[in-house]
Amino acid sequence: MSTDKFKDLIVYFNGEFVPWDQAKIHAFSPAVKYGASVFEGIRGYWNADKQKLYLFRLQDHMERIELSQRVMRFGEIAPAGPLCDATVELMRRNKFKASVHIRPTVYLDEYGESSARGPIGQFITAIERGTPKKVEDGVRAQVSSWERISDRSMPARAKSNANYNNSRYAGIQAKVDGYDAAIMLNSRGKISEGQGMCVFMIRNGVAITPSVTSDILESITRDTVIILLKEMGIEVQERDMDRSEFYDASEAFFCGTGWEVTPINDIDGSPIGAGKPGELTRKLQNKYFDLVNGVTEDTRGWLTEV
Ligand code: PMP
Repeated sequence: MSTDKFKDLIVYFNGEFVPWDQAKIHAFSPAVKYGASVFEGIRGYWNADKQKLYLFRLQDHMERIELSQRVMRFGEIAPAGPLCDATVELMRRNKFKASVHIRPTVYLDEYGESSARGPIGQFITAIERGTPKKVEDGVRAQVSSWERISDRSMPARAKSNANYNNSRYAGIQAKVDGYDAAIMLNSRGKISEGQGMCVFMIRNGVAITPSVTSDILESITRDTVIILLKEMGIEVQERDMDRSEFYDASEAFFCGTGWEVTPINDIDGSPIGAGKPGELTRKLQNKYFDLVNGVTEDTRGWLTEV
């Protein structure tokens, strides 16, 4: 892959802002040897009318990276505040005038073995990234034969890099089988989440999503969507969700920072509703994008203006 699009980027790396090709970690680090690292995915939305970049729920993402470090039993914790400040400064140094995807990472550095708990290192990368076409078109999903990791093995509520090998299997299998996305069942056989996003269905006019004890990442977009749906007068149930309920759903969608609000058109080749993005999903998308782009008033302090 060509690195041309990255080579002029500035990266925040252990307290400094360095050119892209200097952001390197050591081969001996537990991050490399054992995947001992945690990260976040944050979007920034460029509002062309206002000529402003808005970072969505920056503080909440950085509080979650604190939680991930605690769950992963890091011996020292990189706190949210300085990570937020470094992110804003990174946006300024890169002079972005487009929507972006930001990835902060805290990792175990130096040369420890698998039970090492420090020292930590930290970096933040950011690249330009807009909304993908699948948000408009919707996707075809497969219920994966791969089981979601459970809290008894790899805690899903930590956004730990190592967890993503589980979703990687599911995502690859879905693609190989001709689908766009995977939905995983948890160890109790209930719906958990997609390979990097949460899932909702609309059934009998009610929005249903797996609870936070379903081995999901406690998604910030899921939280946002629940609030927006309630504002729209839709009842939301956070509960165990059965696979077979999809066959009776009128609409379904994925949500997440990366996936935003992406309609699910069919599951395992069986259409959901009319097999195309549903009316309620479209309304929710409009509300979501107006919010993140700073079109509607930010009454909750969710937008950080760069
Ligand atoms: N689940 C997983 C496994 C994820 O990686 C993500 C993306 N961070 C989500 C759900 C959605 O979380 P969020 O809305 O906080 O981005």
